[in-house]
Amino acid sequence: MEENKKIIIAGPCAIETKSGLLSLVEEIHNKVDIIRGGVWKARTSPHNYAGKGEEALKWINQIQKKYNKLFAVEVGTKNHVELALKYNIKIVWIGARTTSNPFAVQEIAETLYKTDTEIWIKNPIFSNLDLWFGAIERLHLNHIKNIKVIHRGFYSENEKTYRNDPRWDLLDKFRLKYPNIPIICDPSHITGDKKLIFNIAKKAMQKHINGLMIEVHHDPENALSDQKQQLSAKELIQLLEKLNLK
Ligand code: PEP
Ligand code: MN
Repeated sequence: MEENKKIIIAGPCAIETKSGLLSLVEEIHNKVDIIRGGVWKARTSPHNYAGKGEEALKWINQIQKKYNKLFAVEVGTKNHVELALKYNIKIVWIGARTTSNPFAVQEIAETLYKTDTEIWIKNPIFSNLDLWFGAIERLHLNHIKNIKVIHRGFYSENEKTYRNDPRWDLLDKFRLKYPNIPIICDPSHITGDKKLIFNIAKKAMQKHINGLMIEVHHDPENALSDQKQQLSAKELIQLLEKLNLK
């Protein structure tokens, strides 16, 4: 990979229907390096859409073969990891809520032991870097080498502009501790608002991050989760052009 090439990851917050996912992938596959999609969603309210589960893994498996593209999913439990492995998923990520839970991270790390699965660790919801470091350490102790982290901002009662405070100072601290771990910025979850994504993505590039993870949906206005922050395929392509990335 070229020194300055950014990894572009995009896809829906949550996978909803097979036809929606297929039409989205058809539009974006040649603009992105990796497709993302939530299959199990850790929702605050039990009444909200919690993902398609195993059924969506079958669609993902078909997409990976058809487009020769890797697809990343979020895992939160041992069972999620086992199912992801069963359906030939090569990249999983740990969500911000899960990074905050050492029991869950330990379980995921042990289930991935001696597999070649790549894993991305989102920063914990709250601004406690030790939880992030601890998660990385648990993966290292289980001989998982292919690690990246995702900067998705930190919850703050004082932050008014963004859904999550970017806290670039904490990113600098992270880099001091782990200078060789690639950092992906997730401007969708930092901003919570599609209008602000460009500014944060640009700032992240000035900070020399290694890639971007962006939420994109086949019908953003009617998305069942993170409706305000998901771009359409067309908006994603425009954003990447504006950032000189494709
Ligand atoms: C997600 O990426 O869809 C997600 C739930 O993000 P986070 O864990 O950063 O809240
Ligand atoms: Mn989301």
